Amino acid sequence: MSRIVELIQRKRDGGDLSAGEIDELVLGEVPDYQLAAFLMAVFFRGLSSSETFALTDAMVRSGEQIHLGEELGRRVVDKHSTGGVGDKATLAVGPVVAACGVPFGKMSGRGLGHTGGTLDKLESIPGFRVELSTEEFIAQVRDVGMAVVGQSADLVPADKKLYALRDVTATVDNVSLIAASIMSKKIASGADAIVLDVKVGDGAFMKSLAEAEVLAEAMIALGRHAGLDVVCELTDMDQPLGEAVGNALEVREALAALKGEGPGDLEELVVESCAHLLELSDLGVDLGEARRRARQAIDDGTAVEAYERWIRAQGGDPDESALPKAPAIAEAFAPSSGYVRRLSAIEIGMEALHLGAGRATKDDEIDHAVGIVCKKKRGDEVEEGEPLAEVHARDTHAASAAAERVRAAYLIGDEPPRAVPIVLQTLA
Ligand code: URA
Repeated sequence: MSRIVELIQRKRDGGDLSAGEIDELVLGEVPDYQLAAFLMAVFFRGLSSSETFALTDAMVRSGEQIHLGEELGRRVVDKHSTGGVGDKATLAVGPVVAACGVPFGKMSGRGLGHTGGTLDKLESIPGFRVELSTEEFIAQVRDVGMAVVGQSADLVPADKKLYALRDVTATVDNVSLIAASIMSKKIASGADAIVLDVKVGDGAFMKSLAEAEVLAEAMIALGRHAGLDVVCELTDMDQPLGEAVGNALEVREALAALKGEGPGDLEELVVESCAHLLELSDLGVDLGEARRRARQAIDDGTAVEAYERWIRAQGGDPDESALPKAPAIAEAFAPSSGYVRRLSAIEIGMEALHLGAGRATKDDEIDHAVGIVCKKKRGDEVEEGEPLAEVHARDTHAASAAAERVRAAYLIGDEPPRAVPIVLQTLA
């Protein structure tokens, strides 16, 4: 029996693999059909924590590794979200952290399906370049205080290969594989401290708090093992974050949050995430002081200035009026009076995707101008006939058809629902 077949068979039968054996699978010349079989064996049998460490470590070593902290002689921070609907937090967190004097360097991904990607949102800004060389990335974090770029082709190539196979073999949904995929990219891209935002709810990978806790703990353990400080926030994704869903609409809303004029849940999440990042930085502040500094950067205008510096540094026009606007807008109206009891994140995300704001397959083009603005959120009181949401679309027909379906994503009832905080739990 060939060596690789023996390793697949051992995992299939519930046995353990050594770090060297995992290296053979991840770093060797293994054909896709054998890797696919290995992934399915992992899906059913799981990986022990030492196997998950070994997998992550092999993935990190599959390509380029950047040591931002060493390059700058400072602690550099980063944040990552597991993906949700309307999640534009990075666009505001980076500038607030930079305004507080802490270097922020992030390599980001594109959206797929109903979840949006930070790079797609940034590309709605005219002129913005997401493809910077590693040298440009490091220089920008040093000179401008922050950069958000696409992953370089050589960053964790093993993840690109494994993720593409997982995508077509129904093996995405495995905690060890998700944790290794996310953390290998974070470790290879070189920050010293990370805040992970694990989304929980119908618009997220993790539907329940219990599942999210397991993923959070796995990622914290992987980070620690690699010498990174990690804080994990478990946050609500049963409804979209903020009001706007869709690329340019989300950039506008992030800019509003940077001016202290954004929706409450977004601003709260931004301040909390920044506070943890500042606490983990080399500023030497506790969480209370970190929160105060994050709020002050928003209140005194330095966060918006940091945003403008960052966008200009990457070739973009930071003026809000430069963002594209959709030609047609239609409203979704409340069918009855009462309270918004539910606003489904997945349904809003899917509707934004159908409008063209996202990609169903990775080669789809996206329309940066279209999307949905959810004016009413869970717990809001509404009058019959009052606008619940605005649909921004390419034409009036698409806008009114989508508005009808957006209305159906709302559940209106007589009683207000139980209040749910945006940050459900914080683990470190
Ligand atoms: N995001 C990733 O980068 N990898 C996964 O496996 C899931 C979400």
